Order: sequence, then C-alpha cells, then structure tokens
Amino acid sequence: MNIHAVPAHELFVEPKAASITVAYGDGIGPEIMEAALRCLSAAGARLSVQEIEIGEKVYEAGQTAGIDAASWDTLRETGVFFKAPITTPQGGGYKSLNVTIRKSLGLFANVRPCAALSPFVPTHHPGMDVVVIRENEEDLYAGIEHRQTDEVYQCLKLVSRPGTERIVRYAFEYARANGRKKVSCFSKDNIMKLTDGLFHAVFNEISSEYPEIEADHWIIDIGTAKLAANPELFDVIVTSNLYGDIISDVAAEISGSVGIAPSANIGESFAMFEAIHGSAPDIAGKGIANPSGLILAGVQMLNHVGQSQVATRLHNAWLKTIEDGIHTADIYSEGQSRIRVGTSGFADALIERLGTLPARLKPVDYGIGSEPVTVPAAPRPAPAEKKLVGVDIFVSWSGQSADDLAHMLKSAGGPDGMDLAMITNRGVKVWPQGLPETFKTDHWRCRYLFEEDGTGIQDVAGLISALAGHGVEVIKTENLYTFDGKAGFSLGQGQ
Ligand code: NAD
Repeated sequence: MNIHAVPAHELFVEPKAASITVAYGDGIGPEIMEAALRCLSAAGARLSVQEIEIGEKVYEAGQTAGIDAASWDTLRETGVFFKAPITTPQGGGYKSLNVTIRKSLGLFANVRPCAALSPFVPTHHPGMDVVVIRENEEDLYAGIEHRQTDEVYQCLKLVSRPGTERIVRYAFEYARANGRKKVSCFSKDNIMKLTDGLFHAVFNEISSEYPEIEADHWIIDIGTAKLAANPELFDVIVTSNLYGDIISDVAAEISGSVGIAPSANIGESFAMFEAIHGSAPDIAGKGIANPSGLILAGVQMLNHVGQSQVATRLHNAWLKTIEDGIHTADIYSEGQSRIRVGTSGFADALIERLGTLPARLKPVDYGIGSEPVTVPAAPRPAPAEKKLVGVDIFVSWSGQSADDLAHMLKSAGGPDGMDLAMITNRGVKVWPQGLPETFKTDHWRCRYLFEEDGTGIQDVAGLISALAGHGVEVIKTENLYTFDGKAGFSLGQGQ
C-alpha cells in the first residue's frame, strides 16, 4: 500500500471512466455481483460496463470452453474483466474457463492478498498480511498429459526462463509499488534441479536488482509449514503455478476465511478480477452469500484502472463494516459479530459507511492514482551453445528383468557410436546393477550416450528404427543436450 501524507479520501478527484467487462456468473454469482457493483458505484467508481454471459448456460449450449466468440471480442475490447464465479458442469469434455482465459489472454501473474481481520474475523494469526504471487501459465498447468503405457501416465512440467523472469520481476515490482519489504521464493529445487532450479536461480539473479527489498528462498514443503504456523514471517511470496495454487488457499484460509479473499490475474494488456471462492450452489438464491471476496477484487480492479481514491474509500468502508460486527453468516461468530446480514444488507451497511475509516483495523490508503504494476522488458540473452550428446528412449515393456531388456536392446543393433548407458524405471536406475527390491512398471527409460562427435539426430532416428524392427515399442524420446558444456538433463536416481 502507498502511504501518503494526505489521506486520499480528503482529496477526492473525479476519475475518468474505465471500460470493463462484467459477467454475473452462476450460483451466488448474480447476487454478489449485484451487491459488489452497487458498492463500487456508491464509492464513486466511474465504470462503463459491458456485460457478457459465461459459464453453465454457455457450456450447456455446446460451447465446451464456457464462453462464446462474441464475448472474447468484448473482453479484448475492454481489457478488464470483473468476473463472478461460475459453475463448471460435472463430467468430462468441459474445459476450465479460468484456465482458458488466463492462458488465452496471457494473464501471467495471479495476485492474492491475504490479511487477517482479527479480532473481527477469528484467526490464529492476527498479524498476518501476506500477498501470494503465483505464476499462472506454465508448470504442470501447461496441461500436456499423456497415457504412455498401460500402467503409466505423465504430465509435463514446463518452466521457461522468460516466464520465470517475468513473474519474479512482477513480484519485486509489486513489492516496490506497494511498500512491501520482503519477497520470498518457494520452490522444490532440491528435487527438481532443472525446472525448480531455474525458478530459484532466476529469483536470485533478479533479487539483486532490488537491494532495498529483502529476499529469501524456502523449499516449498517447509515453507508451506512455516506459512501455516507463522505467516507473520512472510510478506510477498512468489512461486510457480501448482505450489501457488495450493499455498494461496492455505494463506487465505488461515487469514480467516477463503470466502473473503480476492484474486487479480494480470497480463501485459489484460487483467481479470474475481473472488477466489466458487459459485456456492448450496446457498445460491438465498441472499446470504458474502460479497466481500468480489468487493475486494473490485478494490484491486479500481487500483488497476487508476481509480485508487475510490479503491481506498471502498476498502476502508468495507473494513469499517467488518469492524462494526456487521457480518454475513459465513463469518458470523457470537461475541465478535453484532448483526447478521444477507448479501444485500451487507452492501447497504458498507454504502452507509463510505467516507469513514476503521478505528481498530488499519485503514488503507492507495494514494491518488496509481499505475498498474508493469514488468520492465528484460533483454533475451544470446542462446547457449547446444550440443546433442545422447538420447533417452522410453520403452513400453511388460517384462520385469532389466537385464533381459538391456539384452534385447543391445541385440537390436543400430547405428555405431551409441552406447546404452543406463535403464531407469520411474526414474530409479535398474540397469546396470539395479536392486532386486526396486518396484518396476511397464515404463522404461533407456539412456544412450554418444561415444563420439558426429553422432547426430539421424542416428537417433536409425536407433528407433532398429529398435522398432526388433519388436521394441518406443513410446517417446528425449534428446540429451549440453548447453555451454553443462548437462541439460538430470541423472537417474542411483546413477
Ligand atoms: P465453493 O467455493 O463454491 O463453495 C465451498 C463452500 O464455501 C460452500 O459451502 C459454500 O456455500 C461456501 N461459500 C463459498 N463462497 C461463499 C460466499 N461468498 N459466502 C458464503 N459462503 C460461501 O466451492 P465448490 O462447492 O467446490 O464449487 C462450486 C462450483 O464453483 C463448482 O462448479 C466449481 O467448479 C466452481 N468454482 C468456480 C470458481 C470460479 O469461477 N473462479 C472457483 C472455484 C470453484
């Protein structure tokens, strides 16, 4: 948050209208969107709204992505999407609309602030104020999965240097713009030395460009445990897609409730704002849903479109409403709460409090007009010198003896200069000198290393052809490269 000498609510400047797309969604979506838009408008937001239909009805009309072509045009025209939750129909064949929107519109950063509202919303961590910044496009969520053998399925984890540089830089720029003091990186680079290793290495490189911001790194497992037990240790956390998905829910839950957490999905020319909860079909139509997650997503959106004074006014009125004990059923607790309200009653109470500040919770001040956080373009370094030094041939084979498989592979022949160096099963070395205890599936990785320079991709093709001619079922190959002399592949466990 930017701290300014003059509180923003005393210097209100009429903002320029921002063009946004709104979707009312499914389940509780229409109720909370109506309440949220009423609060935004009463706070002084200047929004020119275009409405689109997404979700259940669109899925049921045969659009497996949950959105139609005309809606894409509207979204791209406005560049800002304020979205209520939708219901993803049960059963196969439907694509997650959120993942589609994030990837199609390049929303690379997912920003989830999680702050305690103690004592008004019970939490074990009254001092917690954490922002989780999650990479949104890569990692295991690239969605590239295959069933390769009868027994084994794979999901590719893709981590790129430009994608990692962008999210890490975004985290530091976010910290700088919001007066945050520390950025922590979470990864699992003790196990995934290449993919998570890249994430950590890029974090170290970029953190040195921001000397005023403290930087540290946590292995994801102990980092998550510490986050759950002592969230006060953390300020901004940056991490990859899957870890970020999990820890942002942990962070939201321990701050008080996932029901009140907002989420911003930010790209270079597009941004989407929503609550993190779903469409809550169990309480839909009852008028009791908490609109807070969407209202706070509205605060993020107002900051994004430069209406920071309105964002400040809205957020402070929301804090005051919570502090006054005016609570929806999901956060109502005897002792702390005073009045139980429904969705619309909560919005009315908030609107009455516009222009006031909370007395016990810390008021916010987002300044007079902030620019969205942007990531400076980073130069792409010259490509490394790449050399093909071998190949991993993945084979489907239902036998159990790695010695037998090695014998079969060797007797298939193939081009000269390719030496069978190792066989692994689920990553564990089983040949040469495997252990009889190692459990084996029908999925074998057979590593060939080139004995001499001059062996090339045509020899890999020759090897596959020789193996196929010998009845070996090759299911996939991975070329083994060095980059500037450094291996671009991992060793087998036990190698
Ligand atoms: P959910 O978040 O909708 O509900 C979980 C529980 O929290 C329910 O008991 C619900 O009543 C309660 N809850 C959620 N939001 C609340 C609110 N604002 N106020 C009060 N109580 C609230 O999760 P779910 O039940 O797993 O999913 C329901 C549907 O939502 C599914 O179709 C799922 O695919 C979808 N979903 C959509 C999004 C999205 O659009 N961003 C996100 C998550 C889930």
